[in-house]
Amino acid sequence: EVSIFWFRRDLRLVDNTALYYALSSKYPVLPVFIFDPQILDKLTEKHDARVAFIHQTICDIDTQLRRTGSSLYVLHSPVLDAFKQIFENFNVREIFSNHDYEPYAILRDNQIRKLANSKGINFQTFKDQVIFERSEILKSDGSPYTVFTPYAKKWRQKYNENKPETFQSEKQLAALLKIDFKQIPSLKELGFTNLHPTLLPLKLDAETIGDYHKTRNLPGIAGTSQASPYLRFGTLSIRHLVSLAFKWNESWLNELIWREFFMMILFHFPHVVDQSFKKKYDNIPWRNNEHEFELWCKGETGYPIVDAGMRQLNEIGWMHNRVRMIVAGFLTKHLLIDWRWGEAYFAQKLIDYELSSNNGNWQWAAGSGCDSAPYFRIFNPTSQTLKFDPKLHYIKTWIKDFNKYHLVPIVEHEFARKRALDVYKKALNDD
Ligand code: FAD
Repeated sequence: EVSIFWFRRDLRLVDNTALYYALSSKYPVLPVFIFDPQILDKLTEKHDARVAFIHQTICDIDTQLRRTGSSLYVLHSPVLDAFKQIFENFNVREIFSNHDYEPYAILRDNQIRKLANSKGINFQTFKDQVIFERSEILKSDGSPYTVFTPYAKKWRQKYNENKPETFQSEKQLAALLKIDFKQIPSLKELGFTNLHPTLLPLKLDAETIGDYHKTRNLPGIAGTSQASPYLRFGTLSIRHLVSLAFKWNESWLNELIWREFFMMILFHFPHVVDQSFKKKYDNIPWRNNEHEFELWCKGETGYPIVDAGMRQLNEIGWMHNRVRMIVAGFLTKHLLIDWRWGEAYFAQKLIDYELSSNNGNWQWAAGSGCDSAPYFRIFNPTSQTLKFDPKLHYIKTWIKDFNKYHLVPIVEHEFARKRALDVYKKALNDD
């Protein structure tokens, strides 16, 4: 008889809620990871740093587990089939996992719960990737917040009233099932090229985070935590990061709250996945010029800050937040290209790709999202550069041969600004 702990986007042994509960259960714990073809097969680019990062992380976890005499059971098949196989091979009594709020994950978990329950197996899930989930932070009338500032205020109040505990799963590893599985499938066997993911180094120190409010908008220096991919795959505990934020910097805490805000929005308003949060924004007649989109993707718009951003994204799968805002605004306003195109391109490239944050921020940039800046606020790429990259540090880092960069702007700023105002105003009937 065993309990299963199913790893998903919580790839760590330390302070892992469901793992802690699994290890406290009556039975030895079989740790499982499933490479899901329903997710992997959609990735058309087979040179994928995210899959490589997941792969490397689970190999590291397996190494740690082996020190305790256990090992990770890694499967590569549709999740339902994987569980059928597990149920054939083991006498499973309980399954433990952490909540995942994305629409696909919710469907998947419902299927597994149904299968498990039909065999008399209990499937228990826990909150782990956020401090407050789903409907834990609601307005006094019981409806979800759609504006960030009052949400964040309530979030802080609730946190201070009742600080989350840590779950010392790492101290209970003796309760793992002693077993020696054969090797984990290689990246090649999974259909991906072998690559070593080079993530930006984590900058979780009192100095960087302490200065965050001064440096966060300057893309030329590493003034942010660079923690996004680690948070995405759960190699870091959000409870740990939030406790650091309370110690070191309130404005950094705000960013962690934005992350939860967008997860909450996706949970309550799943239509945002392919529609505008504010429905009338779907009346905008996007120009959707494919050639211009391609130039944007390649970083050849003739606006150095936009091009540097897109080249950083293409090269390392990450872009500084200030520049993400600039390039997203440029695509939607200057080029009048549907935010969904930009969102999909980011989804393909970002190592920290997170459906809720990507969607929320793209809609914010397009003006269609909850709590967006008003549509008539249009970034001027030149003044943004003067303000945030005046010495062109960032631009020269990512436009390698800056001396030879003589691209003519794809569209003139003032013309594009007026065109966007005009189109938005008409579509929104906003007089
Ligand atoms: P820090 O500034 O150190 O912030 C700490 C953490 O807070 C981040 O790691 C992230 O988890 C969270 N955070 C910070 N800013 C935001 C924000 N605006 N919205 C939600 N969470 C935030 N972030 C993603 O994690 N995945 C995405 O797919 C993503 N897509 C984006 C698309 C656009 C168009 C824009 C404008 C922003 C997007 N962001 C996304 C938000 C933000 O740019 C990144 O989280 C941030 O740049 C990551 O760097 P960092 O870890 O150094 O962040």
